[in-house]
Amino acid sequence: MTEDRPSGQFDFLILGGGVAGLTAARELLRLGQRAAVIEKGADVGGLARTVVRDGFRFDLGGHRFHSHNPAVLRWLRDLLGDDLLTVPRVSRIKLNGRYIPYPITLPTAITAFSPLQGVQAAASYFLARFSEQKRPDRSFEDWVIRRFGRAMYGRFFQPYTEKVWGIPGRELSADWAAQRIGLPGVWPAIRHSLRPAAQPPATAVSRFYYPRAGFGMIPQALADDIRARGGTILTGTTPTRITAVPGGFEVTLRGPSGTQTWCAAELIATIPLGALLRLLASDSGGEAASRRFRLNYRGLICVFLALDRERVSGDSWTYFPEPEFIFGRTHEPKNWSLDMVPDGRCTSLGVEIFANPDEPVWSWPEAQIVDAVVSQLARIGWLSPEEVRDHWLLRLPHAYPIYDLGYGERLAQARQFLAQWPRLHLLGRTGSFRYMNSDGVIEDVFRFLDARFPAMEMAVPSLPEEDGRWA
Ligand SMILES: Cc1cc2nc3c(=O)[nH]c(=O)nc-3n(C[C@H](O)[C@H](O)[C@H](O)COP(=O)(O)OP(=O)(O)OC[C@H]3O[C@@H](n4cnc5c(N)ncnc54)[C@H](O)[C@@H]3O)c2cc1C
Repeated sequence: MTEDRPSGQFDFLILGGGVAGLTAARELLRLGQRAAVIEKGADVGGLARTVVRDGFRFDLGGHRFHSHNPAVLRWLRDLLGDDLLTVPRVSRIKLNGRYIPYPITLPTAITAFSPLQGVQAAASYFLARFSEQKRPDRSFEDWVIRRFGRAMYGRFFQPYTEKVWGIPGRELSADWAAQRIGLPGVWPAIRHSLRPAAQPPATAVSRFYYPRAGFGMIPQALADDIRARGGTILTGTTPTRITAVPGGFEVTLRGPSGTQTWCAAELIATIPLGALLRLLASDSGGEAASRRFRLNYRGLICVFLALDRERVSGDSWTYFPEPEFIFGRTHEPKNWSLDMVPDGRCTSLGVEIFANPDEPVWSWPEAQIVDAVVSQLARIGWLSPEEVRDHWLLRLPHAYPIYDLGYGERLAQARQFLAQWPRLHLLGRTGSFRYMNSDGVIEDVFRFLDARFPAMEMAVPSLPEEDGRWA
């Protein structure tokens, strides 16, 4: 599908029409800049889109909105108005045949151990406290064991983390733990359980915002506003080559109306970093750089089930770390908003299978994947196969940037390589290879605009310097 006519030269060409690209385009238009978005998919929204099938609406893995930043929340309310719901968060993890609240708090963690295992856990904690303190935190495993002990690591942290990332915890960077685990150790966890902090970590909030008809309302509202302001969005269009020229860039595009070349003074890339490097003209060394810097993304297979059943569970998300399940997480969209299902008598499930394109499950036929999911859900009593009215499946090769050991140095080198083009900017989660949720992506765009247009009356609120709390 092609939308809008190109109007020649742009101030900014934006590669990728996810939250990052669309937020950037919309705010640039508000600043009086000429901006165009190039999206290779048939629709905008990227990872934050909501797919609609026969009246069932599915996010690509349930997406909740949460931010501690009042400016970001104001911006979102301004965008969505009354369509922004507040939803209670109920998450559980299935461990050893029991469902326990998630994220795990210290009191629930203790109840998950037998008295003997409890003694072992306490011993392993004290052992780690006294023997591991001098070792640097290189890996995720180091970070967690040092703070929680080996027993807690093996029971709670390792199984789900390794399922999500597909690599051992010792090959995952400690940055990941530092960023995602809300509590920095057992003593802070005890203090937190006695006196919860006024601002819980983002991983532990009990309520969140959710757009009435799915998270995809956010990119959709941005796209509508871009078009209303005369901005350009091309969907179904792939850039095939980027060439730096005096005064900016030429980008060759292939889309439904053939091949054309567009020019812009500045380029914003929100697409996978490897893809960007390969697009840079061959004489610039981009192709070789993409092999050298090797920044890997984790893939995700989303299975969507439409069910003739009123409800499956009361959970927003349920986590399944154990290897007997092919999937790692489920969500029930009806528990997020009643508008996610065609009527109250039915429900649906979004099921996430973490896998890379080189793993066998990635190439299984859709029916085989769905059969495996349905039979495993039937075994735990969540549904019976006859209740599955319909199913759909999507494969996302770039769902998560992988913080494997050494990624920090390789990312820094890639950025250094790209710094030869000061008018080329990386933004967003996929484009800048940083694990950010959408609120972090929006802040990233605001921060860029603050730096790029310091003297202008900003249409977006000014934000403090980045402080590392991405999500
Ligand atoms: C399973 C899962 C659950 C999540 N849950 C939450 C949550 O609960 N809350 C939350 O806030 N965030 C959540 N997120 C994160 C959120 O989805 C992202 O932060 C956000 O969508 C990233 O936006 P982006 O624009 O940076 O990247 P993307 O969404 O990846 O956008 C990049 C865009 O570029 C396009 N593209 C790729 N290659 C090309 C190319 N060569 N040419 C042109 N276009 C191209 C893609 O099609 C895509 O539209 C979740 C993510 C996942 C995977």
